[in-house]
Amino acid sequence: LPEITLTDVSLSYGSAAALRGLTLTAEPGKTTALVGASGAGKSTIYNLLTRLVDPQKGRVAVGGVDVRDMDLATLRGLFSVVSQDALLFDETLRENILLGRTDVSEAQLKSVLDAAHVTDFLPNLADGLDTRVGPRGSALSGGQRQRVVIARALLRDTPILLLDEATSALDAQSEKVVQSALDRLSGGRTTLVIAHRLSTIRNADKIIVMDRGRAVDAGPHDELLARG
Ligand code: ADP
Ligand code: ADP
Repeated sequence: LPEITLTDVSLSYGSAAALRGLTLTAEPGKTTALVGASGAGKSTIYNLLTRLVDPQKGRVAVGGVDVRDMDLATLRGLFSVVSQDALLFDETLRENILLGRTDVSEAQLKSVLDAAHVTDFLPNLADGLDTRVGPRGSALSGGQRQRVVIARALLRDTPILLLDEATSALDAQSEKVVQSALDRLSGGRTTLVIAHRLSTIRNADKIIVMDRGRAVDAGPHDELLARG
C-alpha cells in the first residue's frame, strides 16, 4: 500500500495562502486524521493529491513518486474520495454509483447497495434493481448521500481512501450505518480522514492538527489529549 508524503508544501489561491510549508506523512495501511478549524487547509491536501491544484513550492508524493510525474488517470485511479460533495446532483442513483462503469454486474451492485445500506431507503430495489429511475442526487438527504458515495467507493478497490466526514449532524441511525460501512471501507487501505467529530479521531492511528496551513501537532489520540 502506498504512503502519502507532503514535504514543505506551500500553496496560495491567488494572494491567499492555504498551505505554508506543510510537511506530513500518511502511513501505508493506516488511518490518519486531519483536524483543524475551517480554512486550515485540510481540503486543499485532497486537491493536491488528486491534482486539482499543484503547489507553488514543495513536493507531494504517493508511494514515493511525485504526483506531477504520474499519469493523471493512473494517479486518480489510486484514490476513492468519500465526500457528500462528490455526488452528481442531476444524475440518478445508479449513475451516481457507477459513474459510467459498465463492468459491474447486477449482483455486485446489489451487494454494495446492501453493504452501504442504500437499500434501506430504496424499498423497491429488490424488484429488478433499476436505480435508473431512483431519486436524483439533489433529492437525497445528507445521510443518504453519504451512503451513496460509500457504495461507489466500495465498488472501487483502490489502495487509498480519502474521507471527508460530513459536517452536518446525521441522525443516530444514519451515523451508525455510515460508521459500519466506513469501517469496512477503510480496512486494508491507506486512509486519510478530514474529521469533524471527536468519535472519528479516537480510532485513527495518527492525528494531525492543522492551523492556518501548517501542521502544528501530530500523534495518537491519547498523546494529543495529554498534551492538551
Ligand atoms: P479546510 O478544508 O481546512 O476548511 P481549505 O483547504 O478548504 O481548508 O481552505 C484553506 C484556505 O484556502 C482557506 O482560506 C480557503 O478560503 C482558501 N481556499 C480554498 N479553496 C479555494 C479556492 N478554490 N479559491 C480561493 N481560495 C480557496
Ligand atoms: P477506522 O478507524 O476504523 O479505520 P476511519 O478512521 O476510516 O475508521 O473512520 C472512523 C470514523 O470516522 C467512522 O467510523 C465514522 O464515524 C467517521 N467518518 C469518517 N468519514 C465519515 C463520513 N464521510 N461521514 C460520517 N462519518 C464519517
